[in-house]
Amino acid sequence: MYERILVRYGELTLKGKNKHLFVAKVVELIKSKLTGLNVTIDKRHDRLYIELNQELEVEVIKRLNRVSGLHSYSLITKCNVDIDEIATIAIEMIKPKIKEDIVTFKVETKRADKSYPLTSQQLSPKIASKILRTIPNLKVDVHNPSLTLFVEVREDGAYIYIDQIKGMGGYPVGIGGKALLLLSGGIDSPVAGYLAMKQGIEIECVHFESTPMTSIESVQKTIDLVEKLSIFAPHNKIKLHMVPFEPIHSSIMTSIPESYLVTIMRRMMYRIATDLLKKTKSLAIVNGESIGQVASQTLESMACATEVTNALIIRPLATYDKSDIMSIARTIETLDISNRPFEDCCTVYLPNNPTIRPSLKLANNFEKMFDYQPMIKQAVDKTVTIQVSAYDHTDILGKGLTVEECFE
Ligand code: ATP
Ligand code: MG
Repeated sequence: MYERILVRYGELTLKGKNKHLFVAKVVELIKSKLTGLNVTIDKRHDRLYIELNQELEVEVIKRLNRVSGLHSYSLITKCNVDIDEIATIAIEMIKPKIKEDIVTFKVETKRADKSYPLTSQQLSPKIASKILRTIPNLKVDVHNPSLTLFVEVREDGAYIYIDQIKGMGGYPVGIGGKALLLLSGGIDSPVAGYLAMKQGIEIECVHFESTPMTSIESVQKTIDLVEKLSIFAPHNKIKLHMVPFEPIHSSIMTSIPESYLVTIMRRMMYRIATDLLKKTKSLAIVNGESIGQVASQTLESMACATEVTNALIIRPLATYDKSDIMSIARTIETLDISNRPFEDCCTVYLPNNPTIRPSLKLANNFEKMFDYQPMIKQAVDKTVTIQVSAYDHTDILGKGLTVEECFE
């Protein structure tokens, strides 16, 4: 029944050059997400049409839902510019929406083809009266209708639609620069990465892996999470930097009092991530922290952890409830992966009484107990980088190799 999809861009508060950049990026993303489908893209001034050419609209919409920066879509049926034909299609579209109650509606006509003899004001009531005659439970309300029938009169025909399907919103990924996402195997950090991309930030992922202290399955879990995130990324690919963290992890476990284990671990992670910022030409660090969720996510703990870096830190989930985070995780299909029962470096040997108010002075004193500088340098130097692709699964399980060997 549907012939094409009308796509509206988001955030049109942008002006001038920024708007051009925004539109160019969105169009590039749409093209990359629709690769392989036989659709035609018809770019207009502030919107875009996708001619379906027999492709299924559900498939196209599923793909469009992966494009950040899109405001909404409408499914369009096309017919001749003929009032009877338009009314017939409109009735077919509206009927399923009407139950027993009276529904208010209006017809909004736009005449893009100025050679057509009737004006919009003349066309709308003519179409409306034909519809009203067939569907008695409709009542016209031009000021506050609950249903609007849109008719666009164009040279190649009349375009008819009623619904707006909500898009992902936000900004096209990549327009906001690049950041490093600290990705653990938990529920929160993948969601944080998704929200950062939705806001226009391109991401590369950093995972601190403690194999063989932690299992190789936890590394596979991280790869699988990045695979899910890369569905939203430009070109459907994201880089994953795997930092060998075991030597630092072990030293912390033997040298640092239990209540400060997590605090010191965090500080080491930030030191490494800060070095990786320069290497990857990234502008910020994104993490999955949510204020108050656990001991290491009090303001005092966060402040103590980030004391070691000048980097800009973005916490998309800072004020989110766990249930809202989980619902996003479900939508982006990371929840089941995060729930796989493998430990990462922060869940293995968790202390019973982590401090919620770490002191900077103590943290600094404890760190003097082991010579961490060369270890940080080594971790950065030995970091392995892989490209994870949404449509090309990376499987490292069952190879019996170390992480480094897996990617040599
Ligand atoms: P998540 O669900 O994302 O693991 P969490 O609530 O379990 O979050 P923590 O384990 O305290 O919280 O970690 C807080 C943040 O620190 C994570 O969201 C992530 O950004 C970062 N982080 C923790 N562990 C790692 C790791 N092994 N590699 C990379 N980043 C990590
Ligand atoms: Mg975690």
